[in-house]
Amino acid sequence: MAASSLFICTPFLLRPLSLKLRPAIKPALSSASSGPSTPALCGISQPKPIKKNPHRSGSMDGQRPSSRNRKKSSYGTSRRSILKKSFSQEQVAFTAPVPDDPIVAIIGGGMAGLICAQSLEKRGVRSAVFDTGMHGFGGRMGTRIIEPQGLVFDHAAQFFSVSDPRFAELVNGWLDTGLVREWPGLIGELEAGGHFTPLPSPPPRYIGVHGMRPLADSLAQTLPNVVRPCWISKLEPFNGRWHLSENGKNRGGFDAIVIAHNGKCANRLLASSGLPLIARQMKRLELSSIWALLAAFDDPLPIPGSRGAPPFEGAFVKGVDSLSWMANNSAKLSRSESNGTHCWTFFSTSAYGKRNKVPQENIPTVTAEKVKADMLGGVQSALGLPEGSLQKPFYIRLQLWGAALPMNSPNVPCIFDPRGRAGICGDWLLGSSMESAALSGMALANHIADYFQSGGAQPDEFAIGLHNDFQPLSGHDIGQFPGLESEKQTEDIRDRELVT
Ligand SMILES: Cc1cc2nc3c(=O)[nH]c(=O)nc-3n(C[C@H](O)[C@H](O)[C@H](O)COP(=O)(O)OP(=O)(O)OC[C@H]3O[C@@H](n4cnc5c(N)ncnc54)[C@H](O)[C@@H]3O)c2cc1C
Repeated sequence: MAASSLFICTPFLLRPLSLKLRPAIKPALSSASSGPSTPALCGISQPKPIKKNPHRSGSMDGQRPSSRNRKKSSYGTSRRSILKKSFSQEQVAFTAPVPDDPIVAIIGGGMAGLICAQSLEKRGVRSAVFDTGMHGFGGRMGTRIIEPQGLVFDHAAQFFSVSDPRFAELVNGWLDTGLVREWPGLIGELEAGGHFTPLPSPPPRYIGVHGMRPLADSLAQTLPNVVRPCWISKLEPFNGRWHLSENGKNRGGFDAIVIAHNGKCANRLLASSGLPLIARQMKRLELSSIWALLAAFDDPLPIPGSRGAPPFEGAFVKGVDSLSWMANNSAKLSRSESNGTHCWTFFSTSAYGKRNKVPQENIPTVTAEKVKADMLGGVQSALGLPEGSLQKPFYIRLQLWGAALPMNSPNVPCIFDPRGRAGICGDWLLGSSMESAALSGMALANHIADYFQSGGAQPDEFAIGLHNDFQPLSGHDIGQFPGLESEKQTEDIRDRELVT
């Protein structure tokens, strides 16, 4: 079992995929502008029998592991898991056999968490996904729909590329069901002063037909147990299971947990969880900060381009401190004809984000005004427009992604602590893209399913990613897209490949 999971989890370098994906052939989903439609709260489904492992015996109930450091628990009198001193917190270690019909809690309903749940389901393992999203699932696959004007912006992930056959298979399914389609719009590099160079032969790019969030919500709808909005604030090992709670409210008991989010929230959750190895790896992660400016204009922006070529729809901006990417979301999502507005998403560079970082929940007005002015000024100089000539947007919204993209990675598909029956998935384990997130979710699901099938008798065989070193990630400020690298990034990759 361990061998097969290790095969699945072999680290790899992402490269553009030569596989041809099928074009989008199905009509779009209905309710384009109505936003997320996933029910906010679904009950946890009843257990269903899964393949029984002959090596398993007994259940965790009645397990009485000793504890050297008993703590008061809100679920009973004391922790009953074996605690072993390790690093700065005690390592929890479950010793009883895995039950016949285990259930996994997945904390985070972004791409990684949702694909992890789907992949567990395929392997016959139950799960429940908890996500904080107020408007829908998806995390950094965010889409903002502004009514009554019907403005639509993808305000984080803009598109995705495909380089791995396992992800290609998933994407083909989404193409067939009309959830995603290819984005044929022209993209390239825009140098300050309005010098646009199309990318010579970019690999296909894909978008959610109605934006990224509806894609995530549709994935969530295929899952039996999803709970949103729900912010898991505590993890407690007790009586052989993990117990989750949301500000004191019991959210159930689980046989394993998956942390499918990162940043401050994950560090806080893991700080006293009894998972020091996992907590340590999470703490090593460095994240960039990026400002997103959503702006709607009455008239088209004056886009530079070569004669006869259509205006670009997306550009990696070079040589402008406050801007790394700009995309015409109306053109991308084919909505400009419907209401005649022009919705653009602009992202700052990560360097600018770092210099101008403030608490994202509480942005001071003075900072917001400065950033808006800097970014609109950046748009003006990127397009090579005279000072003060950029038209005033009739709608504008600023957001800071304080934990935007990973800047380093252990380059391992997933992390799993078999003694603590806890794992991590997310984009940062493999890179910085939706594809990395999906592959990580898949890898962890298969790893956990293999572990469950083994009955948990040889836990150490299933430890993965607990001690890997981190390496810096290269790529664009908004992610890594094999085949869409700038000349400089291509040179860096070539140099690295020569060294390794
Ligand atoms: C500005 C920006 C632009 C980007 N552009 C692109 C792009 O064009 N293409 C691309 O491929 N990638 C892009 N990315 C990266 C891409 O969005 C991510 O790689 C991917 O979406 C990460 O998915 P994830 O599931 O790992 O994490 P996330 O999407 O962050 O999901 C984590 C989820 O967990 C939830 N959560 C957190 N704490 C808790 C808790 N305690 N309880 C319950 N739920 C919790 C969060 O609310 C969130 O929904 C961009 C990212 C940013 C920020």
